[in-house]
Amino acid sequence: MDKHAQNTQERARQARIASNLALITRQIDAATERYQAKAGITGHKVTLIAVSKYQDIESMRALYLAGQRAFGENRVQDLRQKASELQENLAQPPYQAAPKPQKSIKWHFIGTLQRNKINHLLALSPTLIHSIDSIELALSLDERCKAQGRIQPALLQVNAASEPSKHGFSLESTCDAFAHIRARTSHLRLQGLMTIGAHTQDIGAVVESFARTKALYDTLRAAYSDVETLSMGMSGDFMHAIEQGANMVRIGSALFKD
Ligand SMILES: *Cc1c(COP(=O)(O)O)cnc(C)c1O
Repeated sequence: MDKHAQNTQERARQARIASNLALITRQIDAATERYQAKAGITGHKVTLIAVSKYQDIESMRALYLAGQRAFGENRVQDLRQKASELQENLAQPPYQAAPKPQKSIKWHFIGTLQRNKINHLLALSPTLIHSIDSIELALSLDERCKAQGRIQPALLQVNAASEPSKHGFSLESTCDAFAHIRARTSHLRLQGLMTIGAHTQDIGAVVESFARTKALYDTLRAAYSDVETLSMGMSGDFMHAIEQGANMVRIGSALFKD
């Protein structure tokens, strides 16, 4: 492809992704309004994590240029590669980004974490690890963080729909596990819950899995004043999640779609 055609294609991509982001932002705002009206509160804020797991660097760059700064990956090696490629790409024309973009990008880890990948992940300084799915993983992470003298924010993953295919704590065991981990760790900062909504077309079941996770979150918040993050909602169900009280959503396909 010649340079001109390439620039035209890049501009089309940029426009498409910026418009996806604008639409999703409006939908997040509208769902937030509905939640606030229902809960009788104001000032509820929802953070959007752009899940870039199936995307190329050009699409991620387009989203960055549209203003998105928080990205999520579910594999340690992908996070490492994309963080370095995006940083490199943003330093180049034609749309040169602000200086030191790598400093402004926040990387979230949202996938299953194998214990033998902990060091690799920590080396990438993730802003938040969403997917603590066992007490053993929490204790191992804490040990590494302690050795490195760093505090690592993280969330417990809840298997709210009790699906055997999914990782995470059962609804029944979440609060005990949370307390257990908080009592035995000093460098892992457990600050909330993450869940993946029920995998079904049945919206009632999806909403119920979110509502149950929110109820656990409220219980934890009453016990620990620093609990502040409820990560739930993806492309197909984020408005329902926000209406149930999510304050962080993880959206991939809807942000990058054609
Ligand atoms: C892939 C993924 C998402 C985003 O899914 P979309 O349906 O593409 O929005 C969110 N959370 C987790 C844990 C994921 O693996």
